[in-house]
Amino acid sequence: PDQHPRGSWSSDSSDSSEVGRVCYRVVVIGEDGVGKSALASVFAGSPYGMYADCDQWAGKDENDVYERTMIVDGESASIILLDTWDNQGSWVQEHCMQAGDAYLIVYSVTDRASFEKASELRIQLRRTRQSEDIPIILVGNKSDLVRCREVSVAEGRACAVVFDCKFIETSAAVQHNVSEMFEGIVRQVRLRRDSKEV
Ligand code: GDP
Ligand code: MG
Repeated sequence: PDQHPRGSWSSDSSDSSEVGRVCYRVVVIGEDGVGKSALASVFAGSPYGMYADCDQWAGKDENDVYERTMIVDGESASIILLDTWDNQGSWVQEHCMQAGDAYLIVYSVTDRASFEKASELRIQLRRTRQSEDIPIILVGNKSDLVRCREVSVAEGRACAVVFDCKFIETSAAVQHNVSEMFEGIVRQVRLRRDSKEV
């Protein structure tokens, strides 16, 4: 019955007292309207795809914090997802820049300005967390909107090389690559953790 063969999700919180439970704080940042809350809704288990046309989820669950436990590569990881970026003062955004163990920098492939904003955010993050090697995934969302595309896959990939981070294109609307994105961020955090243990 496992619908996510490479990283099943469960909302099971019964293991909260388990010793050594791994919990990662993942912050979603990016221009307004790129789909941060939509991706967070998919993460939280909302049937976003069903509501893609009626905007029911857009704006509904804004500025929220979600928690979910995933099994990635046979090991459990809890993610606390912070979707607190939009419509907040600079103080909150500054806090977001400090608060994450990992970041999803989201742009929309249908909006070049949001792609440029992603670069600004990468620079801001580097400045705020200078000496740290923070796991980041550059996320090109809305890949389902094929005819409105303004940013190519190649551009996104090239940008991630410059950013020194991972890259993925997603669609919250059709739930494409969303679980892969969260699995990816868990793997990135683990890679750094494991290299520190050596
Ligand atoms: P946020 O401001 O970054 O949190 O963006 P929202 O999650 O509120 O999404 C902004 C708009 O884009 C809403 O109308 C969503 O329905 C729409 N949207 C978000 N993700 C996708 C996607 O992957 N594909 C399509 N077609 N629309 C999306
Ligand atoms: Mg939002």
